[in-house]
Amino acid sequence: MARKFTDVNEPFTCVHCGTHVMPSKRSCRNHCPTCLYSVHLDVNPGDRLADCGGLMAPVRVEYNPRKGYQIVHRCQVCGHEQRNIAALDDPVQPDSMEAVLELMRQGGGTP
Ligand SMILES: [Zn+2]
Ligand SMILES: [Zn+2]
Repeated sequence: MARKFTDVNEPFTCVHCGTHVMPSKRSCRNHCPTCLYSVHLDVNPGDRLADCGGLMAPVRVEYNPRKGYQIVHRCQVCGHEQRNIAALDDPVQPDSMEAVLELMRQGGGTP
């Protein structure tokens, strides 16, 4: 039983809002572009080594001068926090700028 480590960029259906999410061409997409929710599958981004599988809610947005906007997700099952780069300029299915702005307002993210 060989584990596949390369198959991380697959389409999926968001368990939170039901959006059918297409794989990103540029990076490994791991959150829903509509509601920004994610699922706890990774220990480190893309490795799919976590056994948790809990729903990860977006809790705040941080700005990194080198990486751009990052969405911080917190697992509702185990409390694990993980940063994911926002895919605002994805050519296929960009993250909702409205959802990101709303999260900034709620979470008091970096101005
Ligand atoms: Zn969603
Ligand atoms: Zn978890």
